[in-house]
Amino acid sequence: MIVVKTTQKLRQILSKNKKTVGFIPTMGALHQGHLSLVRRSRRECGFVVVSIFVNPTQFGPGEDYSKYPKDFAKDKKLLKSEKVDVIFCPSAKEIYPDNFSTYIYPKGLSAVLCGHSRPDHFGGVCTIVAKLFNIVSADVAYFGQKDYQQACIIKKMVRDLNFDLKIKVLPIVREVDGLAMSSRNQYLNKKERADAAVLYSSLKQAKILVKGGIRDPKKIIAEMKRIIVSKKNAKIDYVKIVDVINLQEIKKVEAKVLVAIAVYIGKTRLIDNVII
Ligand code: AMP
Repeated sequence: MIVVKTTQKLRQILSKNKKTVGFIPTMGALHQGHLSLVRRSRRECGFVVVSIFVNPTQFGPGEDYSKYPKDFAKDKKLLKSEKVDVIFCPSAKEIYPDNFSTYIYPKGLSAVLCGHSRPDHFGGVCTIVAKLFNIVSADVAYFGQKDYQQACIIKKMVRDLNFDLKIKVLPIVREVDGLAMSSRNQYLNKKERADAAVLYSSLKQAKILVKGGIRDPKKIIAEMKRIIVSKKNAKIDYVKIVDVINLQEIKKVEAKVLVAIAVYIGKTRLIDNVII
């Protein structure tokens, strides 16, 4: 496994490669969710590149950019044991040199769900992902359903801007109590960590209600909110039931829907979702 910090060096390595390139963009502080993407890529591709880059342009003012968890030594060990070929871990200056001034701001899908409380987030995500796609020239890139809206926006960007690669979206990996794995779970204290299981409990309840024949999203959302706010540490950002393609709120549960939530547990904002 080679650790590469510059675009020039990475391109040099990739120019000699003839195998299919699988790419997993991450912000590090790796967990089993990330590793599920790495493993799939390792199975499907001859050459696997993982990027570790905490992207400043996707964090809003007052968000956790400066304190985002970092443990490169541990990440490196994990990726080595997964037989990754290259870790690309550029500096912020390498990616955004002085005078950098070209950004990609997606329309439509970025205005809903997380877009309300994080208005510039998906612009930052598209900008970094587009840059990484251009740098890595992968054949397949792997993303998690955990960030469902992000995956939809990236798929749309790939279509709209004619990127020549395939996007695969893999299932959410969860802790034993159902909490979706996330680098941000590290922020939670013991009580908050226990309370954070309420996100998945509320999503499970949504599934039960739909299976039981409830079709009114308002009823399902009200029940989910009741469950979430039963935990003192929890503050709801949003609980929404939307169409899986256009992410618009639906009036009746008739076809496949995405139940998506964002909840603060203490000061930590967590997201989760299920498709029903
Ligand atoms: P991040 O490092 O948080 O930017 O995540 C990098 C990639 O890992 C994204 O495509 C995420 O959707 C994916 N990911 C994060 N958490 C999970 C999880 N619990 N299960 C599956 N994929 C995940």
